[in-house]
Amino acid sequence: MQECQFCEIASRSKESEILYETESAISFLDHRPVSKGHTLIVSKKHFENLFDVDQDTLCEVMKMAKLISIKINTLYNPTGINLIQNSGEQAGQTVFHFHVHVIPRYDDDYNKRLGIEAQKRVRSTNLDLKLTANELRLALRN
Ligand code: 5GP
Ligand code: ZN
Repeated sequence: MQECQFCEIASRSKESEILYETESAISFLDHRPVSKGHTLIVSKKHFENLFDVDQDTLCEVMKMAKLISIKINTLYNPTGINLIQNSGEQAGQTVFHFHVHVIPRYDDDYNKRLGIEAQKRVRSTNLDLKLTANELRLALRN
């Protein structure tokens, strides 16, 4: 199989700001965040997309998406949160390992699509990612 960056993150062979993990799912900060706290919830096992992920893993990923959303909501008080799952290239999928985006919204940008915003996004500094991850990890302990 071709190298998969999310398999590498799950096995810790690639660096990322991991927030939380269970037996079958792991969450870490998106390195090109749409907004502060933008998190990816990923299956630990490699599934390509929504169509081949098994039900138990899907439930685990969605439960984690809710947990992370609650923590982000309390910590950053966004005006809303989007859960986005892209399956297939035409749907905007760029990493072909099953994942769900948790994207907090802070103003009136709710109707902007991830694809449009993706073009404007800039790579966060490692320090910015570290600070955000530390805040969220602390929140996840409570
Ligand atoms: P998709 O477009 O497939 O739904 O989303 C893939 C997401 O993964 C993108 O938002 C992209 O910024 C993020 N991403 C891609 N490679 C990496 C990586 O190596 N590390 C982290 N933290 N995020 C990544
Ligand atoms: Zn993978």
